[in-house]
Formats: sequence, C-alpha cells, structure tokens
Amino acid sequence: MNICDSDTIDFSLSTIYGASKVTDVLYADVVILNTCSVRSQSEQKAFSYIGRLEEFKLQNPNLKIVIIGCMAERLGYKIKKRFSGVDLIIGSKDINITAFKIINLYFTNNYLKKNFNYKFKVIEYVTITSGCNNYCSYCIVPFVRGIEKSINYQLLIDKCSLMAKNGTKEVMLLGQNVNSYKYNGVNFSLLLKRIASIENLYRIRFMTNHPNDFDDKLIDTITNEYKICPHIHLPMQSASNKILKAMNRKYTYEYYFNLVNKLRKKIPGVSITTDIIVGFPNETERDFNDTLNAIKTIKFDGLYVFKYSARSNTTAFKMFDTVTTEEKKRRHSVILKESNKISAKIISKMIGSTQQVLAEKFDNGIIKSRTRTGHKVFINGSEKYVGKIFNVIIKSVKVNSLYGSIINKI
Ligand code: SF4
Repeated sequence: MNICDSDTIDFSLSTIYGASKVTDVLYADVVILNTCSVRSQSEQKAFSYIGRLEEFKLQNPNLKIVIIGCMAERLGYKIKKRFSGVDLIIGSKDINITAFKIINLYFTNNYLKKNFNYKFKVIEYVTITSGCNNYCSYCIVPFVRGIEKSINYQLLIDKCSLMAKNGTKEVMLLGQNVNSYKYNGVNFSLLLKRIASIENLYRIRFMTNHPNDFDDKLIDTITNEYKICPHIHLPMQSASNKILKAMNRKYTYEYYFNLVNKLRKKIPGVSITTDIIVGFPNETERDFNDTLNAIKTIKFDGLYVFKYSARSNTTAFKMFDTVTTEEKKRRHSVILKESNKISAKIISKMIGSTQQVLAEKFDNGIIKSRTRTGHKVFINGSEKYVGKIFNVIIKSVKVNSLYGSIINKI
C-alpha cells in the first residue's frame, strides 16, 4: 500500500511538475518519507531516519523534508515538535485527496496526456479502496486511514488502460479490504471483469481480502476470467474462536476453513496465503495451538506472522497485554518454522512442472519472474525477457524460491 502511495506521488510529481528521482539523498532538493504506523517498530525506524535526514540538512540547508503517511497522520504534531528540520507533514487522509486531485487533473488535461513520458513498471500497484470500516480490535488502520472509500471505477479503468498502453503487463489492485469495493453499483467482481477486458493487460492480482466479503459471485469471476491470477491472500489472524471474537474479526474458524475449501474446490490450482497474529491479549497456549494446528491442516502456500503490538486508540489497547515478549517471540518462531516447512513441501512438488511466468526484472544475468500463483522463479536469461510472459520448466528449489529454465525462447 505504501509503495503504491509513493508511486502515485512519484507519478504526479514527475508527470505534472517535471521532477525526477535521484539515487542519493545528497543530490535531493526534497526528501519525501512515507511512513507506516501499523506496528510500533516501523514508527521507531521512521523516527531515527528523520534524525538522519536532519543531518543531511546541515550539509544542504535548502533541502526540504516532507513526512507523509500514517505516522504523519497519527503523530504529526509530535514529529514537528521533535524535529525542527521537518518542513511539511501530510497525513495519509490528505495524501489520497491530493493524489486523486492531481490524477483527475491529469486525466482531464489533454495537453498533459500528449506530453506523457512517465515510465510505468511491468507490474504496477493500483489502490482501489482506502481506509476500512471493520475496526478489528488490534488495528490502527481505521484511525489513520479513515473510513473505507472506493475509488471511481472509471478512473481506475482509465489508469489501468494507460498503464497497459505504456508497458504494464500486470496490475496488483490494493486496498485494506479490496473485496468490499463498491462504487456507483460496481462491486469488486464487476470491477475485476472490467479490468480484465483491458487490451494488452495480461494479469490481475489483488490484496487484501476480508473473509466475510468473499461471496460466490466473486469466486466465479476469479474462476472464469483467465487474467485473474489464482492467488488469494486471505488473512486468518487466529484459529481460536475466542481470540477471533476478541479481535472483532466477525467470523469463526469453521467459517474460514469452509471458505478455504470452497476456494480450493472452485479455483483450479489456487494458492492461498494468510496473515497470523501471535500473542494477542489472553491468547493461551491452547488458543495458540488451535492456530498452529489450523496451519498444519490448511497448509497455506505462505504466510506472514506478526507479534501482537498494542496500538493506541484501538480497543485491544485497553486490554492487558498478557503474553510476554519472550513468549510472543517463541510463538512467532514456531509458526514461521512450521509454515516454512509446509511451503517448502508445496513448492518442491512443482519441480519438473511447466509454469507460465511473467518476467519482472533482470539483474546480473538472472531474470526474476512470478508464476500465476505468485511463486517467485529465478531463471538464467537476458534482459529482453523483461515484461514478457513465457513458459519455464522448474528445475530446483532454494529457500522458498524456484529456479527454472526457459522452454519457449523469445
Ligand atoms: S480489516 Fe484489516 S485494515 Fe480493516 S480493521 Fe481489520 S485488520 Fe485493519
């Protein structure tokens, strides 16, 4: 999401104001630091980075420091008070309004269209919703990103079409809750169908989904539209119904488990990944084991596991943090170890298979690509493959990545 916001700002600044990116802060006139508030660790990192930026200002007094994103929204006043060298603070709610205004201007201004010279990437991120109405008890997002807003679908179609015309082959649709997208009667399923009809766009991915918003129509759309990649990121968070209730996730483990089975039955070869939080207040050993057992049963293709950290304003902030830091670390590493074992088994079964990949980057003689299911494949090759879709045969596996060789040469 933050990469997408940064890209949007980059797009606006370079196409409208003619600014260009530099590779080193030493050569910059303006530094824009996009921050995250989801975990306290990311805020600490941002604080220390702002301190370093102020040192650059001593060498270049004209340097402007701009802090944007969730942390700017949440702690703007504190940042200003602590760092006198910061010139501008723009909260995440305002970033969206500013960026959309600029993008709206771009799409209605033919002069700018003619002078378009922005270089789109092979895979581009496109934000389709911002904010969230779910108020999971541990999550700061509704407080820093506001209530859920869906972006005008015509604007999204225009944006994806423009990207496709300019070299983008895959779009990753982003939102805290993409599958609750709704704009003037267009729901997420319909939006996917419309984006799938864009010429020269070959792949569509999306993330993140809420299990409660995954209806049968959406599953049918994913099954029937080949351009939609069969990879679903479906945060489970916990498999203990007691903890799910305390998290305000509004589903039970049984509901989640049935949904996973339905997805696997209806979408051929689908890969399913998830998010897990360990050490939520009052998570006992038994609750933790419920989650661990669910991971062993469901066998996710991959997962992200997070140690619970209390965030102010949230309901869980008022709960007593019962699980010690050491115990959170232990649970985190148990889940990670189990998940790595499962993922390794799943991908090792891909050895010898033929996979269709999209080449995203080339570096040092190696092409970095992804399968339709989102698995990374590294291949020996040349730069001419970047942006191309082709078949590879999977030869080996190393640390959750696949290594393959090209079947049909370009
Ligand atoms: S659905 Fe996701 S973004 Fe929304 S409140 Fe829950 S965890 Fe946060």
